[in-house]
Amino acid sequence: MSAPSAAAGDVLDAAIVGLGPAGVAVGAMLARRGLRVAAFEREPGVHHMPRAVHFDGDVMRIFQSIGACEALRDCTVVGEGMHFVNAEGRTLLALDARQLAGDSGWELSYFFHQPALETVLRARAAEAGLAMHLRHEVESIEPGVAGDPSKPASIRVRDLGSGASREVRASWVLGCDGARSLARVATGTVLEDLCFDQPWLVCDVVLRRDVDLPKWCVQFCDPARPSTYVPIAGRRRRWEFMLMPGETREEMERPERVARMLAPWLSPDDAEIERATVYTFHALIAQPWRRERVLLLGDAAHQTPPFLGQGMCAGLRDAANLAWKVDLVQRGLAPWRLLDSYETERSPHVRRVIQSAVAAGGLIQTTDPGVAKARDEMFLAGNAPSPIELVPRIEGGVFDDRGDDLAAGKPLPQPRDEGGRLLDESLGDGFALVGADDPRSACDAATTGALERLGTRFVAAEALRPWFAKVGAVAALVRPDRQVFGSARDGADLARLVRALSARVDAAEG
Ligand SMILES: Cc1cc2nc3c(=O)[nH]c(=O)nc-3n(C[C@H](O)[C@H](O)[C@H](O)COP(=O)(O)OP(=O)(O)OC[C@H]3O[C@@H](n4cnc5c(N)ncnc54)[C@H](O)[C@@H]3O)c2cc1C
Repeated sequence: MSAPSAAAGDVLDAAIVGLGPAGVAVGAMLARRGLRVAAFEREPGVHHMPRAVHFDGDVMRIFQSIGACEALRDCTVVGEGMHFVNAEGRTLLALDARQLAGDSGWELSYFFHQPALETVLRARAAEAGLAMHLRHEVESIEPGVAGDPSKPASIRVRDLGSGASREVRASWVLGCDGARSLARVATGTVLEDLCFDQPWLVCDVVLRRDVDLPKWCVQFCDPARPSTYVPIAGRRRRWEFMLMPGETREEMERPERVARMLAPWLSPDDAEIERATVYTFHALIAQPWRRERVLLLGDAAHQTPPFLGQGMCAGLRDAANLAWKVDLVQRGLAPWRLLDSYETERSPHVRRVIQSAVAAGGLIQTTDPGVAKARDEMFLAGNAPSPIELVPRIEGGVFDDRGDDLAAGKPLPQPRDEGGRLLDESLGDGFALVGADDPRSACDAATTGALERLGTRFVAAEALRPWFAKVGAVAALVRPDRQVFGSARDGADLARLVRALSARVDAAEG
């Protein structure tokens, strides 16, 4: 597939601002679908310092959708879980990630090296045909008019090598430009503060030799110094230390101070310190996520403290939710108003994850010995808050609203077939009608015709038979992001379901 040029006069399907994880993922998804997309990134290469270290199985499934899993093996390890330990070294709670794995087809959690992951994603995006313009800074954004095809969006881009600037026009501008987003300013979006602003020292090390360290993540719930240990992939390890009142960034980032902080675990010869930087963690959510032809994704739309390892994950879920909608709109199969379901579906989910991360941070961060003692007693009595459901049912948006559908709004489980092949490999990039038996047999001619117009694949998945029995259905209509639009009890119900999909898309017209 040839990479689209961004010549003046041309109108691209989409222009992406920023090539962090959210930008490269949505770019790869759109390019795979044959859209003309170009991305602009001001840096010359991937961000060399990792920030994110963890993603979950649902996100691995998103990486699967762009063919990245095989190449990710070298820079990821399966997460073992998380232990909460108190000031006396007593384990308050031990979460075993392998036991908590769901039915996504992947493990519950993975640790990884972010620069390596982003390199893999860029390679997949390039293969798919995404034009990536590095050292190109987007200086301004004109949002155009969403309902008027003669008024596309436009961005002014400066080539930081030559200094030349040019205008690039696109049907949609995807603002994936991170926490200090220009796109967010251009959309006039405001940030709601969910009230969390706490500085932590983040130390990344590369072990020079084997050191006896836990295989799992540890939250040290010590009121004298809340801290976190994370075993990243390979020989990389991370410690995070909360700054206490009166401590400054300058003091905490000094090499002698960093060595002192790490001394309980490492001698100076054990490891090379890759970086030690103070980050202030925030909890923020933008509103709205779209103005005219500009949409926000990733940290541009929301930021979360990293206690659940979910910031980047949220950006990747944004990409998966939005890409197929932009594709349908650009192919004339849905009205542009479909794009408003992106915020309807994603914003409440992100809010819930941020609130849970803030709550987890509150438990870990307490510096009051009395509150810490009460927390320890609560955990030891077996009353620790249960882990949140990272992929809850999505309410509202583009789903069947039959009401008693047990499958709608949740991801389709991903079993392997007898040959060990994961189900998604058969689903493709579009809609799929899935049954334990061939789902065509449940379709009348009109239903088949409507599904074919949407490019739907018909997939028989024997391995899903127990799931179909559980949800009381013979077929499930699955969206391109693997969320179940709805399930059908029989042929008549399926015809209704397919009409409901058309209606949900058409109902968004306006
Ligand atoms: C210490 C720490 C630990 C974390 N741990 C985790 C974790 O374990 N798991 C997790 O899921 N998340 C974690 N996160 C969050 C995660 O790092 C971010 O959510 C994620 O990197 C955001 O991705 P993004 O693509 O939205 O933005 P970014 O990664 O910030 O990318 C934005 C890109 O846009 C470019 N850009 C900006 N403006 C312009 C412009 N005008 N023109 C051109 N290019 C531009 C930037 O150069 C940058 O490359 C952590 C964060 C921190 C700080």
